[in-house]
Amino acid sequence: MIICNENQCSACGMCIIVCPQKAITLRKKNLHDNYIAHIDDEKCIKCKICVNNCPQNVSIESKNILNCYAGWSLDKETRRKGASGGIASELYKWAISNGYWIDGVKLNNKFQAEHVLSNELNIINDFSNSKYQFSNMGSIYCTIGEKLTQGEKILFIGLPCQVAGLKNYLKYKKLLNDNIVFVDLVCHGTAPEVYIQQHINYIEKKYNKSANKLSYRNPEFNTYTYTFTLSENEDVFYKKKVKRNDEYQIGYHKGIIYRENCYNCRYACTSREGDITLADFSYVGSKEVCNYDNKNVSCILINSKLGENVIKHLIDNNSIFCELRPIEEELDYEKMLHKPTERPKERKKFLAEYKRTNNYDLSIKRVMKYRIYIEEICDVLNLYPKINFIKRNFLKLSKCFKKSRK
Ligand SMILES: Cc1cc2nc3c(=O)[nH]c(=O)nc-3n(C[C@H](O)[C@H](O)[C@H](O)COP(=O)(O)OP(=O)(O)OC[C@H]3O[C@@H](n4cnc5c(N)ncnc54)[C@H](O)[C@@H]3O)c2cc1C
Repeated sequence: MIICNENQCSACGMCIIVCPQKAITLRKKNLHDNYIAHIDDEKCIKCKICVNNCPQNVSIESKNILNCYAGWSLDKETRRKGASGGIASELYKWAISNGYWIDGVKLNNKFQAEHVLSNELNIINDFSNSKYQFSNMGSIYCTIGEKLTQGEKILFIGLPCQVAGLKNYLKYKKLLNDNIVFVDLVCHGTAPEVYIQQHINYIEKKYNKSANKLSYRNPEFNTYTYTFTLSENEDVFYKKKVKRNDEYQIGYHKGIIYRENCYNCRYACTSREGDITLADFSYVGSKEVCNYDNKNVSCILINSKLGENVIKHLIDNNSIFCELRPIEEELDYEKMLHKPTERPKERKKFLAEYKRTNNYDLSIKRVMKYRIYIEEICDVLNLYPKINFIKRNFLKLSKCFKKSRK
């Protein structure tokens, strides 16, 4: 029996929890593959509970976007540490002070990203900022289910496929109610954790250091510069800006190394799973003038009355700045609200190399060759603002041309 198409499994792990026979595990077919759900045929009784609740087969109660806001935390530190405006962290603070449990993603000491449920303020620091790798839901479904049964309230922030998995689970358990607020993130994809682990090992050897902290967008160098760092006891020993020749960032931001399901993602659309959707607001001000730039600004999409009420609380408490924006400022530029990331032509070659070598850094270098150095030169010569300007205007011109032809 197949739960969902192999290329669509996001390894959300919901099927593992609902299976009455405990017949499902997450497995890799080969060393180089992604984790996907695997059924032990000898234990399976073909009840199809997994198939009927899998978020790749059914998505329930997805919502249309009602409003679009630009916003950021009014606490300078929270804003600085957030991937964009620190709105997620403000939501967590609001939730804890109102008796909610909060769910977010933190990195453990093996650099695996995992969902954790807590009611302590000091965990917000670990949740804050984006971890650009696969995050494991583990047993969080059961923990959240138990809390809701006890009448507790929950704030869950995660990727759209994870929100959908949790909603399906709670619906199956008849526990879906307004005691849980869902927030999803606009997402362009996650990469298997083995790539980042191998990349860290490679750098550790090169620098003769042992990393105990990883940051994909280190706030010390402004999160909007996407500076990737590794530290040993708070001492940053490796630091690369996004266009500066770091093998992991090249593979990730060029969309070469995502899990296969990300290229088929059914949640990359304007129908949202969360009551609120959060994203970077790169093109704020592109349709209507605003008196701030796009640095550390979150895009807050409101998708339900519950979501609207929560954001209103944050505004009334003076926790965040929030301004209504034309929705086109997000919709016209954020591709992930329309379709999944396209497989770049280099992906096939990368996978073949990786299968052969089982070495992340070697494979990506062989595939990207001179492009890595060309990007670095463009960055050193500060050519990117000019390239982006040309790209933006070309986009506008081609839209005008299409309109005039119609
Ligand atoms: C994998 C990934 C891809 C993204 N892709 C895009 C994109 O293409 N376009 C865009 O506009 N925005 C994207 N974002 C969202 C954006 O980077 C910010 O997370 C969002 O704007 C919220 O920022 P913040 O400052 O309000 O939150 P922060 O205070 O930075 O909080 C970050 C939140 O993200 C959660 N989180 C971090 N890593 C993961 C993970 N691996 N899995 C699940 N949850 C995680 C944390 O638990 C926390 O709730 C992506 C985020 C992630 C994690």
